[in-house]
Amino acid sequence: MSILKTETAKSASVRFARRMSNVRVSAVREILKVTERPEIISFAGGLPAPELFPVREIARAHAQVFDEDGPAALQYSTTEGWRPLREWIAARMRKRGIAADADRVLITTGSQQGIDLAGKVFLEPGDRIVVENPCYVAALQAFSAYEATPIPVDSDDDGMRMDQIEKALTRDPKLIYIVSEFSNPKGITLSAERRSRLIDLSLRYGVPILEDNPYGELRYAGVAPEPLAALDRNGLVIHIVTFSKTLSPGMRIGWLLASEEIFKEVVTAKQAADLHTSTVEQRAAARMLQEFDYDGHVAHLCLVYGERCKTMRDAIERHFPSETRWTKPDGGLFLWVELPKTVNADEVYAESLREQVAFVPGASFFAGEQRTNFMRLNFSNQTPERIEEGIKRIAGVLKRRMK
Ligand code: PMP
Repeated sequence: MSILKTETAKSASVRFARRMSNVRVSAVREILKVTERPEIISFAGGLPAPELFPVREIARAHAQVFDEDGPAALQYSTTEGWRPLREWIAARMRKRGIAADADRVLITTGSQQGIDLAGKVFLEPGDRIVVENPCYVAALQAFSAYEATPIPVDSDDDGMRMDQIEKALTRDPKLIYIVSEFSNPKGITLSAERRSRLIDLSLRYGVPILEDNPYGELRYAGVAPEPLAALDRNGLVIHIVTFSKTLSPGMRIGWLLASEEIFKEVVTAKQAADLHTSTVEQRAAARMLQEFDYDGHVAHLCLVYGERCKTMRDAIERHFPSETRWTKPDGGLFLWVELPKTVNADEVYAESLREQVAFVPGASFFAGEQRTNFMRLNFSNQTPERIEEGIKRIAGVLKRRMK
């Protein structure tokens, strides 16, 4: 009998942990299954453009690692990570004004693991966590697996709304989670003024901030604000970053910076999770970065993505009905469209798919009540021509539904 059949037969008697009962399946992952078809113009995933991966350089670095010290690259290694990589990262973080020390850089298996580990060390069943609303779906999944209750805080073009944060903090949350630059799903950035205010509030209420910054390097216009981790003087910010959007998400290399007390706890949690991140990948990344022009590469990404971002913004401006509103990101991978309340984005999605265009309806990004009149559009993974065409088709669907 096949394993599948055995599983089905026995499933009635399998008892899963209660903690999984509230974890929603990611709508984004489900949609991606549909949109892998090449004829579909997909604005759905958060995928970096594969043609921009530095494939040859990454391949060469792997070969060098195997030639120079193959057995060590294939061996177990420390939980904290490969020292030369941690040093490169600390130097990079110092350029952004963060007082980073290589001893406090933990290499994680993607930044997603940083989110999960923070949840693991801080959240007990019933604990509260302040999140942006809408919020990155896989962070909501991670927190709900620890049976925490999100306190949703709305955002405007300047990021999380401070009046709502202050109110949320009176409800005794354990953690504040924020994507501080070019958020997922909205593409918005927390303003400089709100950054100082958030740091003050986190200190006043004694609540640590989990600052997730996977998109900070992808800035196409404007000046970068100081990261919350650079403003923090009290060891209350945990800062997580990743190579997923600049080098390759498949390498699964991210990192986490934290004060000594938090760092130790997170390292222990990582030991239990996966012992360490792939030795091979860490060494290959470090080896590559010895010679690779990372700044030049990031500048090139920004040029290409910046053009795609502008193309999408301009196309929306030209084609979408005047009753729609949308964010105007200066970086990252996404923008967020608000439709009139009477228009259901799930229905727009179904009709758009018939016209071979996909996006993610916004409902699943909401931590509280799921609002149905929003769409998330990704602009990094299609050429300007396909972006223009895809936006025109969605605009056609919107116009028909809004007649
Ligand atoms: N945080 C945010 C806001 C993201 O959008 C993503 C990826 N979609 C991640 C974290 C996780 O990225 P990774 O694990 O590949 O570093």
